[in-house]
Amino acid sequence: MAEADMAHVLVFPVPAQGHLNSFLHFSTGLLRAGLHVTFLHTDHNLRRLGAAAREAAAASPRLRFLSIPDGLPDDDPRAVDGLPRLVQALSTTGAAAYRDLLASLRRRGSAANDEFPPVTCVVADGIMPFAWDIAEELGVPAIAYRTVSACSVLAYLSVPRLVERGELPFPNGGGDLDEPVRGVPGMESFLRRRDLPIQFRSLTDTYQDPLLKAVVAATVDSCRARALMLNTTASLEGPSLAHLAEEMRDVFAIGPLHAMSPAPAVATSLWRHDDGCTAWLDGQAERSVVYISLGSLTVISYKQFTEFLHGLVATGYPFLWVLRPDMLGASQDAALQEALSALGEGRGLVVPWAPQRDVLRHRAVGSFLTHSGWNSTIEGVVEGVPMVCWPFFADQQINSRFVGAVWRNGLDMKDVCERGVVEKTVREAMESDEVRSSARALAEQVQRDITDGGSSAMEFKRLVGFIRELSS
Ligand code: UDP
Repeated sequence: MAEADMAHVLVFPVPAQGHLNSFLHFSTGLLRAGLHVTFLHTDHNLRRLGAAAREAAAASPRLRFLSIPDGLPDDDPRAVDGLPRLVQALSTTGAAAYRDLLASLRRRGSAANDEFPPVTCVVADGIMPFAWDIAEELGVPAIAYRTVSACSVLAYLSVPRLVERGELPFPNGGGDLDEPVRGVPGMESFLRRRDLPIQFRSLTDTYQDPLLKAVVAATVDSCRARALMLNTTASLEGPSLAHLAEEMRDVFAIGPLHAMSPAPAVATSLWRHDDGCTAWLDGQAERSVVYISLGSLTVISYKQFTEFLHGLVATGYPFLWVLRPDMLGASQDAALQEALSALGEGRGLVVPWAPQRDVLRHRAVGSFLTHSGWNSTIEGVVEGVPMVCWPFFADQQINSRFVGAVWRNGLDMKDVCERGVVEKTVREAMESDEVRSSARALAEQVQRDITDGGSSAMEFKRLVGFIRELSS
């Protein structure tokens, strides 16, 4: 086996949709560069993916999917409120299984596939420090991969400084949310309290929210990993990347990966795509459709649902709305009925899950109402689609601020869910030449970053060299 082929990366994402997608795109890039990849799923997700994962692995002889238990009962709702439990269970029950598996893969190829060389490097989700600590204990060098924006990682890393400066916790459960925040380097001129993760608002003590605490600790712990990898580009987030580089051992900005290394979305999609979307879009006029998707984790109340629905109907534009089956809890069926009956003949389509990348690049789509998850944000950026942002939690609050105030490729509707505002903001995103031309210019710049000689393409090559060096 040639020396290059001996590099074998075990990738270990948090088992949530956005993370799985980013890791699959990254894996596709590694495979193209000639490396071996073991993709570590949880048993629960691998069962859910079923044939799609088997087919993806069968299509590439240097890729395999293995799994470990996530430590939760099978019927646990692994939606947003289950995420802290999931990460906690993974870092205990899951960690023990991961250690055993990695120890065996370190020694030899797995019994399941003897063609695989021993694992030489781990790329673990940047919110699971246990994964790189265990790898290093076993003698396997480890890199942290944060699947969110550089600006949000920098904000989390700045939490100790915000506390020191007295900017955190906010007074009285948030105080004036338009108050500027000065303690995140490079963002002094536009960052407000409302642009930090929503969990910050309810803190009375420093940061007692368990997920937030874990994410802040993991961000600080990333400084120990051999390097930090981010699915972003220098042209989108140069200043944040430069600040991160001062704190980390090395930083690689290698995105947007989905545009560099197209991977079959079905291989990591935990939901089944509705195949009718494209045919429906084909029948719509150019740039006439509003696409609404709030990602894989957001849950909304019935009241929020009706405000969105009435606002959208009032715009007069046809819309394609992803209403996941677990999005509204007990109100799901009623909401679905109401949405369907509010739709005039041919004016809209409601689906449980859409092939988002295909939708965003469809000529009929004129704007994207999004929760500003990082994957959705960069998918919208790459296709040059104006966005309306309604962030839900975590990094989404800061991503939407960058969309509205820095890149200006969309409008930030943060903290408001009222039909009149939905109508007005969606109309503006559909009709503003200014927003559309910023969105186009950004898409063109990002395209340059990922083509040969562009910043992300060069960083990806540097990363592959770095992994090979760690593997030798
Ligand atoms: N997605 C999709 N179909 C949908 C909704 C979402 O394929 O109907 C994909 C979307 O393209 C993105 C991911 O799910 O890659 C969601 O990740 P993101 O980081 O935007 O948000 P999260 O789900 O982590 O909140």
